[in-house]
Amino acid sequence: MRRIYADHAATTPTDPRVVEAMLPFLREQFGNPSSLHEWGRKARMALDEARDTLSEALRCLPGEVLFTSSGTEAANLALVGTALAHRGGARNRILLSSVEHHCVLECRSLLESFGYSVELIPCERDTSVSLHAVREMLDERTLLVSVMHANNETGAINDAEGIGEACRAAGALYHCDAVQTFTLLQFRLPPAEWADFVSLSAHKVYGPKGAGALFVRAGVKPSPILVGGGQEREMRAGTENVAGIVGFAEAVRLAMQDEDRAVRMRAARDAFVGAMERAGGAVFTTPDWSRVLPGHAHVRFPGRRADAALINLDQRGIAASSGAACSSGSIEPSHVLLAAGLSEAEAQEGLRLSFGKDSTEADGVSAAEELAASVAAR
Ligand code: PLP
Repeated sequence: MRRIYADHAATTPTDPRVVEAMLPFLREQFGNPSSLHEWGRKARMALDEARDTLSEALRCLPGEVLFTSSGTEAANLALVGTALAHRGGARNRILLSSVEHHCVLECRSLLESFGYSVELIPCERDTSVSLHAVREMLDERTLLVSVMHANNETGAINDAEGIGEACRAAGALYHCDAVQTFTLLQFRLPPAEWADFVSLSAHKVYGPKGAGALFVRAGVKPSPILVGGGQEREMRAGTENVAGIVGFAEAVRLAMQDEDRAVRMRAARDAFVGAMERAGGAVFTTPDWSRVLPGHAHVRFPGRRADAALINLDQRGIAASSGAACSSGSIEPSHVLLAAGLSEAEAQEGLRLSFGKDSTEADGVSAAEELAASVAAR
């Protein structure tokens, strides 16, 4: 049976060239980048090169790139670190979009325990967050706003630059979770012009798991949430994951050279959507494909829960996802779909297929055929 991986938004296969680049740092070049001897210096050089690569891709200063263990840690540092640094100040409101990843939304109780009032920004029916919705809520008491660049479940793209500019005009800091978009969508403007924090993750771009980064605009200083040896400009203690970071940078370098990656992903996704439309019965969450990530398709079959279809699809060799949290084998209603106004039952119907750089149009068509058959089989 031919297997098709259509869950690239969950994680991507590690590129073999990335693994090759990492191996020396797991073997002979094992030095601690903080050590002064030759092993240490080599590790430090590798780290500096990786930082340069990421800063070129992001269009920021190397010193504005902080390495973390994940996208989750990057977002936690942006939110919790900012809240700690400004505790007790006049700006005591924090705005999070209602469709943020759990690594942002789950910071809420901690932020509230520091005395902040945390409010959720509503989304549109297609799960996007409008500039208008953000503007409506910004005021002189707002310290920080978090609105993601594109949603991991549905792929809906937001005007991150516009939202960031509105935040800056209102004197608020802005965190943009770009985990799903980095290397795939180029920001219109360099991040220093509109963002204070941008979260990134290696394993969504064919790099290894356990490596992430946070853009922290020069002059902005969150309090560290990991304390110790003072690494990463005293904002993130802990010996750096040199091999993982080297792998992250190699993945980014390869992505920068792969100019038609998004075109190939879109072709596979469009083939899936076309075949799904011919089969009938599917409702797409994001009807305007120009405002959706190139590899993403989010679909529902009204009256049909997603979990049965997913198990059936897996047995047919197609790896897809609900995009929502899954506990004890059953899918919880997606907080993203609930925020978009869907009912609890509808919020358990969402299926996400996410195509990647090596997906083909034939993969898209096969996935659609198998999905249509899985839904019919129930
Ligand atoms: N933000 C978004 C939008 C994501 O999709 C993910 C991963 O699923 C994360 C953050 C967390 O990244 P990591 O898996 O590196 O912790």
